[in-house]
Amino acid sequence: MRTAEIRRRWLTYFSDRGHTVVPSASLISPDPSTLFVIAGMVPFIPYMTGEQTPPWSRATSVQKCVRTSDIEEVGKTTRHGTFFQMNGNFSFGDYFKEEAIRYAWEFITGSEDEGGLGFDPDVIWVTVYQDDDEAFRLWQEVAGLPAERIQRRGMRDNYWSTGARGPAGPCSEIYVDRGPEFGVEGGPIADEDRYLEIWNLVFMQYERADGGTKDHFEILGELRKKNIDTGMGLERVAFLKQGVDNMYEIDEVFPVIAAAQRLSGKRYGDNHDDDVRMRVVADHVRSALMLISDGIKPANEGRGYVLRRLLRRAVRAMRLLGVTEPTLPVLLPVSKDAMKASYPELEADFARISQIAYGEEEAFRRTLDSGTTILDSAVAKVKSSGGTLLAGDQAFALHDTYGFPIDLTLEMAAEQGLKVDEEAFRTLMTEQRQRARADALAKRSGGVDTQVYQGLQSELDAPVQFLGYTDHTAPA
Ligand code: ATP
Ligand code: MG
Ligand code: MG
Ligand code: MG
Repeated sequence: MRTAEIRRRWLTYFSDRGHTVVPSASLISPDPSTLFVIAGMVPFIPYMTGEQTPPWSRATSVQKCVRTSDIEEVGKTTRHGTFFQMNGNFSFGDYFKEEAIRYAWEFITGSEDEGGLGFDPDVIWVTVYQDDDEAFRLWQEVAGLPAERIQRRGMRDNYWSTGARGPAGPCSEIYVDRGPEFGVEGGPIADEDRYLEIWNLVFMQYERADGGTKDHFEILGELRKKNIDTGMGLERVAFLKQGVDNMYEIDEVFPVIAAAQRLSGKRYGDNHDDDVRMRVVADHVRSALMLISDGIKPANEGRGYVLRRLLRRAVRAMRLLGVTEPTLPVLLPVSKDAMKASYPELEADFARISQIAYGEEEAFRRTLDSGTTILDSAVAKVKSSGGTLLAGDQAFALHDTYGFPIDLTLEMAAEQGLKVDEEAFRTLMTEQRQRARADALAKRSGGVDTQVYQGLQSELDAPVQFLGYTDHTAPA
């Protein structure tokens, strides 16, 4: 079942049940506490908090999401992309827990002939919030799930709130048992690789107070209008339905891996480290494509920095696969072709998108060419003297002279088994910044001419993905 087909089934199922189909919002978060939309519900937050009146009481969407907080997982787990699509169904003061569970169960286990996904009911496990006896009972009654396949979990995993006064409530997560060859028995609390989380149902039931901690805060009372917010990972369902091993091997992503094989002459499946690199390439190229499509341009801070980092990591992963010529002119069109069935705007806008991406690769190639030899010889020196730490002034020189951002130096040093003296690096950066400030002041007051201070602050402040809705709770 192609990814676009799962998406179509989703929208049909929920629109047949009175949900208004709302197109995906842009990846740029409307909420200033996050850079990107990290979940399907983000565009609907004003309706959940009661700040705005929703134009409909039921809605459904397939929302583009970017979670940079998952970047280190990419290619290593089976299930984390920096870009992914979240299918959601939402109720604003309309149906609640029982219907949400019924819809989820019916869609997952309904036969393929009748528009469902056709999962065998015996492979489904769920978790509920530890005190949510109602959800526990509903999974038994509505879905007929045996109690052994319903596991209770604490606040950290199964409770949602924004972290401030407002709606809050328990969640219930739905997992598919991939089978004994993928891990140990015992349900999702024992093994999240074997038991793959595909869907999170959030029951916004209470109003919480400000303050408290992640695990403990005051509940002010029941919400007058209770909401449902759910999120199903489209790529995760696709990888299960397509019978492949992970989300990077689905129809919308794998063609880039295939192209990386052709470019590098290496075979996917031969070597673990190379496989991870190819998955990283496929993920990052797709994320960059979608980010540029939504109007983001490479920059030294904020969203643009995230884009820059994704493109650079993809290019570097290709270098580690042995490819030194430009790679995006081959990889990006492949990713676009794999995604355009769901996002036709990619085709129409591709001249602009590709120009931005290729320009960034060119600039980065120049940076790499000049800095890599320097880094390598510095690393060799440290190693030959039996050390494990690259000095801060080396990292500083790489930054200052060759434009290597610190996280590039960190990553490249780590690949060769070295750590970097980051503290010393940061001290040097601060000193430089103070010098630049003093110089600028002197200049303004008519003093000596100085070198211009250029955006060092942005490099200093490590790029932050504000976790907002994910750091302490399990949002859909
Ligand atoms: P996990 O525990 O696997 O990291 P999560 O609990 O962080 O997932 P939620 O915040 O509950 O995920 O998001 C709802 C759904 O979105 C998940 O059930 C999953 O199917 C999907 N999803 C979440 N993060 C990713 C990701 N990085 N890549 C692909 N799909 C994702
Ligand atoms: Mg997660
Ligand atoms: Mg989870
Ligand atoms: Mg979850």
